[in-house]
Amino acid sequence: MTTLDDPGRLLAVWEAAATAPPAARGPVLLHAAGLLPDLDAALDLPVGTVAALAARLSVDSFGDPVDAVLTCGCGEVLDVALPLEPVAGLPAGVTGTVAGGALRVRAPTARDLLAAGRSGDPLGTLLARCVRDAADRPVAPAELTADQRRAVDAAAEELAGAAAVVLRTRCPGCGETVVAALDVAELLCERVAGRAPAVLAEVATLAAAYGWAEADILGLPAGRRRAYLALAARRAV
Ligand SMILES: [Zn+2]
Repeated sequence: MTTLDDPGRLLAVWEAAATAPPAARGPVLLHAAGLLPDLDAALDLPVGTVAALAARLSVDSFGDPVDAVLTCGCGEVLDVALPLEPVAGLPAGVTGTVAGGALRVRAPTARDLLAAGRSGDPLGTLLARCVRDAADRPVAPAELTADQRRAVDAAAEELAGAAAVVLRTRCPGCGETVVAALDVAELLCERVAGRAPAVLAEVATLAAAYGWAEADILGLPAGRRRAYLALAARRAV
């Protein structure tokens, strides 16, 4: 089981999160965590697979449920205890067929999202990359009928799995239903950012007390790190 209990791994993920483009954040975080050794291959995984892995890492490292904050249109801020365990277990599809087999839809990957983000027509780019006809030729979005477009959209949402989870909760302030897309990678970033300052402070304390290098401190087994921290605290008194 890979977790971020290892302080060196946690800091690597924290650092990667700061520079990763949003569309590739999931694969970049999982790569930094050591879960996906090949970043190039990780960028080609279906977004649902990546989101489910990120949910699993989040649960294993920080527990479940996660405290999430939603803001209603009326301005009310809602604290929600959000269980990620079911999200980690959601199946992710790779391809599906629609329109009686005339079209094949592939689950988008981070690489598809990056390409869409760079283009002037993100949705068109995504469709052109992810939809093929029965002869495996790309289909121009303009060639799709309205019915086919609806079927493609529905198939894409189904394939997205954990990457397309939507939260619904009632606002106690105004009684309206608040709907928000769940961004598992974003939540993982927040949880990592919440823990990182404490890890950095521990490293700084041990470095100041004993003159050890950061890499050596991060390499200490957890029990010994705690024992040395306790000793340093006693010396400082
Ligand atoms: Zn409200």
